[in-house]
Amino acid sequence: MAEKKKKLKSVKRFGARYGRRVKHKLAEVEAVQKGKHICPYCRAPKVKRVAAGIWNCRKCGAKFTGKAYSVKKEIKTEKKEEEPEEESKEEKEE
Ligand SMILES: [Zn+2]
Repeated sequence: MAEKKKKLKSVKRFGARYGRRVKHKLAEVEAVQKGKHICPYCRAPKVKRVAAGIWNCRKCGAKFTGKAYSVKKEIKTEKKEEEPEEESKEEKEE
C-alpha cells in the first residue's frame, strides 16, 4: 500500500527545492496563517490576517491583535465566576 502523502498546497510554489521536512512544517504554519478564523467578538469565521499579529474580522470590522501566524489558541467565552460574597470587615469603633 502506498503511504498517504501530505498535501503541500501553499508550499508547492517552491517546487523541488528546500527539502521535504522544512516545506511540510511551513505548510502547516501557512495553512493556519492563510485560513479563516473565528472572530472573538461576533464569532463569525471571517477573521483574516492583515499583518504579523494583526487580524481583521470581515463581518463586524473588528481589528485586533493576536499571534503572528494565528489567532490566539482558543477563544474562550468570558464567564466570570461569581466570587463568593465578600466578608464584611467589621469596623471597630473607637
Ligand atoms: Zn467579528
